Amino acid sequence: MSGKKLSAGDFIDSRCTRCRVVTNHTIVAMVEDSVVRVQCNTCGGAHNYHAPKAQKAERVVKSRSVAAPKAAKEPRSTRSKAAILEQEQWLAASRDADPTRAIPYTMDAAYKVNSWVNHPIFGFGLVVTVVPNKVEILFQDGKKLLRSKG
Ligand SMILES: [Zn+2]
Repeated sequence: MSGKKLSAGDFIDSRCTRCRVVTNHTIVAMVEDSVVRVQCNTCGGAHNYHAPKAQKAERVVKSRSVAAPKAAKEPRSTRSKAAILEQEQWLAASRDADPTRAIPYTMDAAYKVNSWVNHPIFGFGLVVTVVPNKVEILFQDGKKLLRSKG
């Protein structure tokens, strides 16, 4: 308590036994400095005071996670910036590409950097990185890490 003394007739948040949620209550009775009986301002029911603390903390956490998309926005915008960059890279690379030389993409083929593949879904892509069992291919809609042999 922050020094502010409560007294009967004051408003206080309490868990309401009828509403089953934390609602605004009017203090009905007090013993010393603690609230003992309250009346719900929503349903009008009088009952013993139930501190809302535990539920309140939970609510704060929930509302914080709801506010999280604000923070998640930034990586998304940088990701789209990267996607735009990759698209430009792809366009530049495809200008000198010969699609007839593109090899059809299959999971069990081995690829060489700077070779073109033709993927059934992503279309033409330029192999940019080759790592064990994986190949990173630059497609028109961005880089994708796909399976490969070797
Ligand atoms: Zn109530």
